[in-house]
Amino acid sequence: METIFTKIIKREIPAHIVYEDDLVIAFLDITQTTLGHTLVVTKEPYKNIFEVPEDTLKHLIVVVKNLSVAISNAFNASGVNLLNNNGAMAGQTVFHYHVHIIPRFKNDDIKVELPNQMSTLTQEDYKKRAAMIIAALS
Ligand code: AMP
Repeated sequence: METIFTKIIKREIPAHIVYEDDLVIAFLDITQTTLGHTLVVTKEPYKNIFEVPEDTLKHLIVVVKNLSVAISNAFNASGVNLLNNNGAMAGQTVFHYHVHIIPRFKNDDIKVELPNQMSTLTQEDYKKRAAMIIAALS
């Protein structure tokens, strides 16, 4: 299915493209959450990570790493958040697989906060959860 990113790939709408090869393309996220915020996108319009073939995923993660280094050097970033939302409940808004590279800077005021549920859990709870995941893998 065509997405807004397909239109960018086909040069039907403008974007600031910073990298492209046979499998992936990278361009500036229009929101620029922080300086240099970039999306790395599969050329094929896979909806989410679950649809992306392994070879493409392996290639993409190397591109993500190389671009993260380049972006950090370009803007003198102090760190990088990599973000990939899969599904509307997870915050995905464009259903065409992509990874956000979000460079981080001192005092950039971006909050990535994961609630800590430790105080509500027993060792039994952890054991059960780990066992459920291990069972689902087999
Ligand atoms: P997500 O919410 O993880 O699906 O991320 C989708 C991202 O695509 C958002 O951060 C948008 O800002 C970005 N986006 C949507 N349209 C464009 C566009 N035309 N050019 C660049 N980025 C876009």
